[in-house]
Amino acid sequence: MGLLRRWWRQRLLRRHPLADGDWQAVLQLLPLLDGLDPQELQRLRERCVLFLHDKHLTALPGVELDPHGRLLLAAQAQLPLLHLAELDWYQGFHEIVLYPDDFVSPQRHRDASGVVHEWEAEHSGEAWHRGPVILAWPGVQASGGWDGYNLVIHELAHKLDMLNGDANGLPPLHSQMRIEDWAAAMQGAYAQMNAILDANPHAETAIDPYAAENPAEFFAVTSEYFFSAPDLLAAAFPAVYAQLRAFYRQDPLQRLQRLQAEHPDYRDTTKG
Ligand code: ZN
Repeated sequence: MGLLRRWWRQRLLRRHPLADGDWQAVLQLLPLLDGLDPQELQRLRERCVLFLHDKHLTALPGVELDPHGRLLLAAQAQLPLLHLAELDWYQGFHEIVLYPDDFVSPQRHRDASGVVHEWEAEHSGEAWHRGPVILAWPGVQASGGWDGYNLVIHELAHKLDMLNGDANGLPPLHSQMRIEDWAAAMQGAYAQMNAILDANPHAETAIDPYAAENPAEFFAVTSEYFFSAPDLLAAAFPAVYAQLRAFYRQDPLQRLQRLQAEHPDYRDTTKG
């Protein structure tokens, strides 16, 4: 990081200190941060301040957005970036719009034979290419546990995916990662899920069947599980887990297992 940028960041952090009470209150609401070490928590805390300074949160009527809520959103948004270096991973957008509820949005898909299908779908989140991220506030509030659901991480994973073009399930990989390994892991698991759902659309799948929608959703949904149900993801698709571990440079499964070793009923007592 350049000297000037570091100075600017330090100045910003000094001018906008985060009250201890606010931070502790938000940690209580986010079991998926349990087990982070003090250094990680300190980094997360600073990055929340910077994130909230950098992004504009627009709350539509019906959304009560207080400082806790802002922090609740920021902490989940910054968890995936905790061990990523200084590249501005959330670049290219400035606004996060919070809707009071799920919303209907027009969908368009051109199929293999060239026919364009249009329909309306109900969504709790959307990430627009070079545009804002939209989140239904109840979805943000329901996120944060170890239950495989995290709207914030899901939509922001789409933003990571879009850093190198269209959302296609391939974010910019680190130089020591191999695109072939990524593709083999992701495509294998994706094909496996689609085969199961083609045979029986109501089949029980190991992870949310929405992952089988397209490769971009597969990356977003598996990112969601990576942080909020790493045991389910690693058991179902170990190669996918390994690729995401290399990409995010974190091991939430190890963290969860450590928490469970310390408190055998750990997960049952958390939200979700
Ligand atoms: Zn999505």
